[in-house]
Formats: sequence, structure tokens, C-alpha cells
Amino acid sequence: LSERLTATLANLRTKGKLSASDVDGTVREIRRALLEADVALPVVKEFTAQVRERALSDDVNRALNPAQQVVQIVNDELIAILGGEVRRLSFAKQPPTVIMLAGLQGTGKTTFAGKLAKRLLGEKHAPLLVAADLQRPNAVQQLQVVGEQAGVHVHAPEPGNGVGDPVRVAKDAVKFAREKLYDVVIIDTAGRLGVDADLMKQASNIRKATNPDEVLFVIDAMIGQDAVATANAFQEGVGFTGVVLSKLDSDARGGAALSVAKVTGQPIMFASTGERLDDLEVFHPDRMASRILDMGDILSLIEQAQQAFDEDEARKVADKFASEQFTLDDFLQQLQQMRKAGNFKKMIGMLPNMGHMKSEIENFDERELVRTEAIIQSMTPAERQNPKLLNGSRRARIARGCGRTVQDVNELMKRFDQMAKMMKTVARGGMPQMPGMGPI
Ligand code: GDP
Ligand code: MG
Repeated sequence: LSERLTATLANLRTKGKLSASDVDGTVREIRRALLEADVALPVVKEFTAQVRERALSDDVNRALNPAQQVVQIVNDELIAILGGEVRRLSFAKQPPTVIMLAGLQGTGKTTFAGKLAKRLLGEKHAPLLVAADLQRPNAVQQLQVVGEQAGVHVHAPEPGNGVGDPVRVAKDAVKFAREKLYDVVIIDTAGRLGVDADLMKQASNIRKATNPDEVLFVIDAMIGQDAVATANAFQEGVGFTGVVLSKLDSDARGGAALSVAKVTGQPIMFASTGERLDDLEVFHPDRMASRILDMGDILSLIEQAQQAFDEDEARKVADKFASEQFTLDDFLQQLQQMRKAGNFKKMIGMLPNMGHMKSEIENFDERELVRTEAIIQSMTPAERQNPKLLNGSRRARIARGCGRTVQDVNELMKRFDQMAKMMKTVARGGMPQMPGMGPI
């Protein structure tokens, strides 16, 4: 994501609750970032509308600060569009399972056929590759080379047979597989440089003739704004049950993934990430979402925050502020929760693009939390409940008790007062900025 968005999120971080204008500003930046990643415009529009609606609704996690709330909503929505869960291949009850590939020329179908065959072989399947691309002169030979590398048999028309009939080849291959006990048939098909009626008809005929368990639409991650039109054409012309995103190594922004998944509603199942046969990954919607957002390890950050600031706890604290019952005991409890979050610096470090805050992060001394805790622990229960009792002599006693100076105690009380004031104004907004931390 653009640095601008990071700056916008950093701004939100210091505020208590999302206002409509906060949300609008952030949504504008998300929109820009998605367009920069080449996500199709209609998809961007619908997506940002959804994020906006959710950010303004009550369906936000108040245990998180506003920046995290927005991040979580964006992240959730991205994952939802990308299919939510990992979708695995579905195998036929009666082997062989037939997997047909479709897509434009040069998208990586033949390469993917080899990759998938190799992977299935490794999973103890007995795959068969089928050369049903009889359009390009070298297509059959190319698949044979790939098959050899993968160690998988390739079913092809007799050499020297001129232009064959791909439907026929595919049909024969399924029969052959059944007889020879191959349990997965992977049919490589022809592509064209652009969508055309002949190509669609041929692919559609192969589908009808072989009744595949999966039709995988292979799309080049670099396709950009054409993703929507191409995916729609294939969905109408052939139909498919899943998507393979190829050449993700060349364009990791994932714009095409989002466009295709959103427009077709079909899950992305694999990502092809290079020219070697091992460059194949099962597609994980959550990982792709983070990749699209370029936001570092956002999920574990959110998880840590959730663990540390249990939602109900946060609300209780906020309510206390509102009713002016907030005491130093509550303050202490908050500090302890914070330390429970683990290494605070590490947590901040997980935020993306935090380079510009590096010095503040480096300078933050986690021991500060411990010292503050020690001061509060040197107070009597009565003093913690009623800070007004803390006159000069009591402060001196506390300072002696915890080995700090009176100035340290005064400093702490000043921060506590500021906190209490600030909290009253944001009480309804949920989790406050943590005390003693400065803006993070
Ligand atoms: P097809 O026409 O759809 O069968 O596409 P091919 O499998 O022949 O691939 C076309 C070109 O893209 C070849 O040069 C491949 O080596 C290359 N290619 C395929 N998949 C990938 C990939 O995931 N990453 C990269 N960088 N290149 C790929
Ligand atoms: Mg090919």
C-alpha cells in the first residue's frame, strides 16, 4: 500500500473512535492503493463501499484502536472476496479425476499442467498429462518435455498425424487413464492471444466430452484491467470451477486475483510463482490479502492486540472513565495487560512501513512500564482508589518505597490526570490510547 495510506492509518492511531471523515479519508486511500495494484475499477468501487459501511457500523471490534479496526475490516473483506478458506481440489469418487485447464495463450497452462502433475505425483497420485493443444506447432512437444521433467506420462496424438481433433484426444485420454489406472487426468488445452469464439467452442466441447471434475481457469497475474473481461468471457464460454493465478512472481500485487475472484465468485486454488516445476503454491486467501495490503504480519498483530486487550475488559475500563470511577488500580491493571501483550517493540515492529517511526520505537523503553507499575504498587489501596489523597508527604513516602524520586511520582500523577481527562471524552469510543506510551 502507498505510504500515504500508512500515514492516514498513523493519524487514526492517535484518535479514539472512527468518525465519518476518518473513514472517508481512509477509504479514499484504500481505493487509490487498490487501483495502483491494478484491481479493476468496478471491483474497487464495490469493495470500498463495503469497507466504508462496515467501518461506520457498530460491527467493529472495539478492543482495537481505530487504525487496527480499519486494517481488520479491510483485511476481512479482502479474505472474504478471495474465497475465505483454502479451497482444495475435489477428486472424483470414481477415478479418474479429470482436471481441465483453460485460458489465453501464454498464460502458463502448459507449465502449470507439469507443476500440478509433479505435485500430485508427490502426493501418491498417478497423474496423466493430456496434450489437447493441437493448435500451436510445438505445443505437444512442450508438454512432453514438461511431462518428462515431472516424471509423468503424457498422452498425445500419434506424431505426424497432422492437425488432430483435441476433443477426441481428450476423450481417448480419459478412457486410456481408466484402463491403465491413472487416477488423475490433466488436460492441457489451446489458448489464443485474445478471447475468440472458436477457442471458446473448442474448450467448451472438450468440457462436454470429458465431464471434468475441475475446470481450472489459468490467468496471468500481470493481466491488469483486462482481468474482468477475460474472466467473464471464459466463465460464459466454458465455465470453470477454480482459478490458477500464474506468474505471481512477476506481479505480486495481486490485483488480478482480487478482480477475478470478485467478478466470477470462483475460488483461486493455486498460485504459480516461477518457471520451475516446483514453483507452485496452494493459494491462501489470508496471505494474499496481507500481500495486497503490503501490511506486514497484520494478522498476528491483530491477534496479539486482541489477546492483550480483551474486548470486555476494554469496555469496562472505558465505562469506568465515563463514570469517573477510574482509579490507579485500573491504571495498574491496564499496564499489566499491556505487558502481557509481550514484547511491545516487537508488536509495533509488525506494523507495516513503520520506518519513519523507527527512532521512537527504538527509544521506547519497555522498562518504563515496569517502573510505572512499581510506583503504583507502592501506594496504599486507599490511595489507589482515591488519588486526591496523594499530598506531598504521601508522594515522598511512595517515592522512597519504590526507589524513585518524588518527581517521578508527580510525573506519573500528571499522566494519570491527563489520561482520565482524555478518556472521559473518548469513553464511548472504546479502547483508549494506552497511558504512559505517548502516541504510537
Ligand atoms: P500456455 O500457453 O498457457 O500453455 O503457457 P506456457 O505454460 O507455455 O507459459 C508461457 C510462458 O510463461 C513460458 O515461457 C513459461 O516459462 C512462462 N511461465 C509460466 N508460468 C510462469 C510463472 O509462474 N512465472 C513465470 N515467471 N513464468 C511463467
Ligand atoms: Mg500451452
